[in-house]
Amino acid sequence: MVTKKEEQQLETLGAFEISNDMLKLAQHNEKNNIFLNAGRGNPNWLNTKARLAFARIIEFGTQESRRTMDQGDLAGYTTLEGIRERLETFLDSESSEIDRFLLDAVDYAHDQLGADKDEFVKELVDGAIGNNYPVPSRILKNSERVINAYLESALYRGEKLADQTELFPTEGGTAAIVYIFNSLKENKLIKKGDKIAINTPIFTPYLQIPELNDYDMVEVDLRSTEENNWEIQASEIDKLNDKDIKAFFIVNPSNPGAMAFDDAALAEIKKVVEARPDFIIITDDVYGTFVTDFKTVYSVVPHNTLLVYSYSKLFGATGWRLGVIAANKDNVFDRLIGKLDEKDKEELNTRYAINVIDPEKMSFIDRMVADSRSVGLYHTSGLSTPQQIMEVLFSLTHLLNREKDAYIDASKAIVDRRYDALYKGLKIEKNPSKENSKYYSLIDIYGLAEELYGSAFKDYLVDNFEQVDFLYNLSEKNGVVLMDGVGFGTQPGELRVSEANLPDEDYEILAKQILELLGEYHAQFLQH
Ligand SMILES: *Cc1c(COP(=O)(O)O)cnc(C)c1O
Repeated sequence: MVTKKEEQQLETLGAFEISNDMLKLAQHNEKNNIFLNAGRGNPNWLNTKARLAFARIIEFGTQESRRTMDQGDLAGYTTLEGIRERLETFLDSESSEIDRFLLDAVDYAHDQLGADKDEFVKELVDGAIGNNYPVPSRILKNSERVINAYLESALYRGEKLADQTELFPTEGGTAAIVYIFNSLKENKLIKKGDKIAINTPIFTPYLQIPELNDYDMVEVDLRSTEENNWEIQASEIDKLNDKDIKAFFIVNPSNPGAMAFDDAALAEIKKVVEARPDFIIITDDVYGTFVTDFKTVYSVVPHNTLLVYSYSKLFGATGWRLGVIAANKDNVFDRLIGKLDEKDKEELNTRYAINVIDPEKMSFIDRMVADSRSVGLYHTSGLSTPQQIMEVLFSLTHLLNREKDAYIDASKAIVDRRYDALYKGLKIEKNPSKENSKYYSLIDIYGLAEELYGSAFKDYLVDNFEQVDFLYNLSEKNGVVLMDGVGFGTQPGELRVSEANLPDEDYEILAKQILELLGEYHAQFLQH
């Protein structure tokens, strides 16, 4: 049994750490139930096409390498001339869907993105083989075109911004976030004591980066609620007009709230930026493709926004570490660096003088690349080339099926089914709003208690138990692991269920376990 004191100590841990602790309890749960972990956001599906294509490129690439040197396991470098033609000969586009995909990809890069076919093939091959440092270090040339086209098609809802956007691929969205915070700080765009707004509840790492203790966090809760007809409250967005708030960090669609900004919220953000041209926005759109007709904040206020995207969730690629930062060529970050006082400018010129001849003109995105390797190691910076090529291939699976992307539709249908099963099992009303990504849901245990057994029972729960008690018992007794929403900034009693990582049929069981445990608390309540 976990004591009340232990529970109080647990509440000081991060949500992910609490969850780890509960996994052990749940695996040996008291009722010998099957162990169900719906705590993690890691999807239990993955994309096969891009992975098989990657393997094909490696096969072709090693064969190409043998053309210049061939001694046992030792081969030479590939050559540009005729490489696309040799790829065509190597591939069997008649009978292999993967081979067809690769050839179509080359045509697409040429016809739609203006890439030279031989150069594109060589970039894929050398990148996948990984025998050169990433050059240019920020991103490979044609890879930038492809990833830009993907972001535009998947996240911008018709706005044409690919040509004016620069990219920096990173080791997952995680590294993107670290690099952004670090460079904003090093370049004095946010300073100690500045206010930073965040949309809450939010992915815990955003609340737990120690550097953020230097800033005054202002919570902006943009979750629309039923009472408000699912509309965002203007009073929340109004907070952003406070001149002391320098930046706004957004997870959109949110985690754990799972909701995307609706058009009204986007319009309000646009107004804020019109009134405050120096306003900085960072938007993490990892879950964007789970919302039909999603529109990123970047496409509404592109000059003020850095966009973070990750391939982790949609493509089931968390182990690959594939993220990207997007910035407009004309952006507030460069402008604000230009407006720093002379002393700050001089300090920064010295910082980046070893990287470029004219550091004052070094763009913010290039500064992020340099900062990501502590400036001194700029010459070996950049995401590994095989990772960049994997991003390109994932992107192409969408770009070649823009009209109807069966893979994206199937992944949306998965979370949709599980969401339905969970809500049906709990007998609570679904949120039908089209902004609901359904990747996660927040289950309000106190609300459920009140609905099922009345407000006296709810008060009993609130007054007599630590708020993690239900969560703990759910794992220790029933073998079900969820995540505590409080760590994400929710009200006490809200538990995050991930619709990403359990087989479909388990969501009904999960609902049953929640109701069963709540019933046991209620039996206790009747006896007390
Ligand atoms: C899962 C997740 C990410 C992805 O991180 P990776 O490092 O790319 O795996 C980023 N942001 C949020 C809000 C997430 O939930």
